[in-house]
Amino acid sequence: MTAASPDTVSGLLREIADVGTDPVRGGYSRPVHSSAETELREWFVAQASRRGLDVETDRNGIVWAWHAPGGRRDGAIVTGSHLDSVPGGGAYDGPLGVASALVAFDRLAERTDLPGADRPRAIAVFPEEEGSRFGVACLGSRLLTGAIDPDRARALTDSEGDTVADVTARAGLDPAGLGPDPEALARIDTFVELHVEQGRGLVDLDRPIAVASSILGHGRWRVSVEGEGNHAGTTLMADRRDPMVAAARLVVRVRELAARIPEARATVGRLLPTPGGTNVIASRVDLWLDVRHPDDATTNGLVEEIRQAALLCAAEEGCGARMTEESLSPTVDFDAGLRDDLAAALDAPVLSTGAGHDAGVLKDHVRTAMLFVRNPTGVSHSPAEDIEEADAEAGAEALAVALARLLDG
Ligand SMILES: [Zn+2]
Repeated sequence: MTAASPDTVSGLLREIADVGTDPVRGGYSRPVHSSAETELREWFVAQASRRGLDVETDRNGIVWAWHAPGGRRDGAIVTGSHLDSVPGGGAYDGPLGVASALVAFDRLAERTDLPGADRPRAIAVFPEEEGSRFGVACLGSRLLTGAIDPDRARALTDSEGDTVADVTARAGLDPAGLGPDPEALARIDTFVELHVEQGRGLVDLDRPIAVASSILGHGRWRVSVEGEGNHAGTTLMADRRDPMVAAARLVVRVRELAARIPEARATVGRLLPTPGGTNVIASRVDLWLDVRHPDDATTNGLVEEIRQAALLCAAEEGCGARMTEESLSPTVDFDAGLRDDLAAALDAPVLSTGAGHDAGVLKDHVRTAMLFVRNPTGVSHSPAEDIEEADAEAGAEALAVALARLLDG
């Protein structure tokens, strides 16, 4: 990117370009409540305060920056995204939506003729959208809406063994306060999330901005394969019950099973052997499965086939296997009227996405829309994720147009 003023999307993103860089994986690792994500939240609070917005962090750790004329917060038009990242993620997944929201609010504030200027509006920053620390994606919006049981959420653990309750308390929030917040939810009339596109749809159409039609149904499961830990040198090959071999077979089966079903996606991107020594036959391997398909019944059917394959692959090695659901989100269709209105107003195509978002969780409770900004590489959850500067500014402009229409609605 070239130099730009702080009040452009690119300028804002440049301010945080050094926060949470990952020297090993490349890109950024900004897990929720890490020092990097905390620094990004502080940056956001400073940016919002500088704009005269009222900042509050709710009991689920969602940061809200309000333009609340006369202290009113009902019937609000809300935009926002997240600042946490996957391990080794790109610069734009999440922060693009937050920076664009700040710039869009600037555009609205500049307008002297803005209909609905006295209506409340807010920017929301959601914690643990990626689920990269505690395993459940969109944890903040799930807690807000009651889509996850608070006791289950508090007990989720990260790779260090710290629970959500521990980490929440360390961040200065009361873990007992985690859970459904109908009052916070009831303030939202409409939520619009702008996000970097996580595929090639806009590149192929040669267009900068799209309006979202739907989010592919998706879920996460943990498969635990239990075998017998033993010595790599003294244990004969015939005597082994090696869960790593069973897990390896299962990874290949997952791909074969998904490849038969048009539009299905199934991925094992994370695998954890215990104890994890070079000269040790693992006693247990945990692997995490991500499955997506537009039709929820097809997702369920594929997951059941994978469950059977896990049992079989484990049994072949004399091991046992257990599969548990960590999260499941049905296919989300965004509000059709708003989608069509925004597509017409922005002269933008309508695209679906295979990636999950907080907007998808909020959709069952408030009117919701999403805007996507072209990603020239089409790659996301990777340092290769990219945005052209002109597209980033066009995205903020489109968001401002969308918010202005909603304020006037
Ligand atoms: Zn995202």
